[in-house]
Amino acid sequence: MAIPYPHVYYGDRLVPASDATLGVATSAVLYGLSVYTVFPVHVEGPVRTAFRLADHFRRLVESCRIIGIDRFDDDWDLDRFVSAATELVTANAPTSDVFVRATVHVDESIPGTRVRGCRTVVSMFVYDAVPIVPQDGMRLKTSQWRRIPDSAIPSRAKVNGAYVNSVLAKQDAIDAGYDDAIFLDGAGHVCELSAANIFLVRGGTLITPDVSCDILDGINRRTLLTLATEDGIPVVERTVDLTELYIADEVFVTGTSAGVAPVTEVDGRVVGTGQPGPVCEALGKRHASALRSDALHGWVTALARP
Ligand code: PMP
Repeated sequence: MAIPYPHVYYGDRLVPASDATLGVATSAVLYGLSVYTVFPVHVEGPVRTAFRLADHFRRLVESCRIIGIDRFDDDWDLDRFVSAATELVTANAPTSDVFVRATVHVDESIPGTRVRGCRTVVSMFVYDAVPIVPQDGMRLKTSQWRRIPDSAIPSRAKVNGAYVNSVLAKQDAIDAGYDDAIFLDGAGHVCELSAANIFLVRGGTLITPDVSCDILDGINRRTLLTLATEDGIPVVERTVDLTELYIADEVFVTGTSAGVAPVTEVDGRVVGTGQPGPVCEALGKRHASALRSDALHGWVTALARP
């Protein structure tokens, strides 16, 4: 289990974790009306750095826009977000890598099912960076639950309530003895996992469902696409059929909490050689090193007080 840290950012300051409480009558609790992101913080002695913080902040703002939360970017900009993350991580003083979960909650009591004009509160907490899936070869199962379409609850918005869809799929996969589930859309095309994006390699080409395939536009997905292109690997974003996974040379997944994790089995079929493949291993190494330091892309932000 990941260890939660004692100081939580709540509202506009740090409080003890036990004081960061949302009311039972708030829209956040009643309707799952919160949007969030999770970003990694690499810790090396006194130096703490966050990965692609500006992109996480932008996605949070975009999730608010999609859902209709209209008070967040009145009060928050990237500088404030970086300051809050710095304050939080400094106070908790982790000695190894952590994740930070930042959430915008709709904190209005008994408003009915509406959102515009409602008050919000921001929370951020820290926990140990423990991957949520095996890193040495995962076994996946296609879910009978379909991915929520853009026309119902948009997957590109990271809305807490939408994660019921992920819970249904993941629990079924675990109950059936698998590590995670593959979501298909209504037409049977591959979307993503319960909390990670999916890639396959066929004939040396890296393929992943495009952003209009009812997926979260994952920040590590974008990172892998950039790194692969830089490494001269042909990259295609397009609709993917389930059976393409059965005949792929490699399948792997990406996500902040999943890392870059190889898949060795899909629906009882062995993927490729049954071992983590060379493209996954090479891009996984590049990704791990970019998380730590990255002069080229400007992806790393030092969490240090000025
Ligand atoms: N898809 C879903 C449904 C997720 O919850 C996540 C985790 N945030 C991802 C993909 C991967 O996104 P990211 O790379 O930004 O962590």
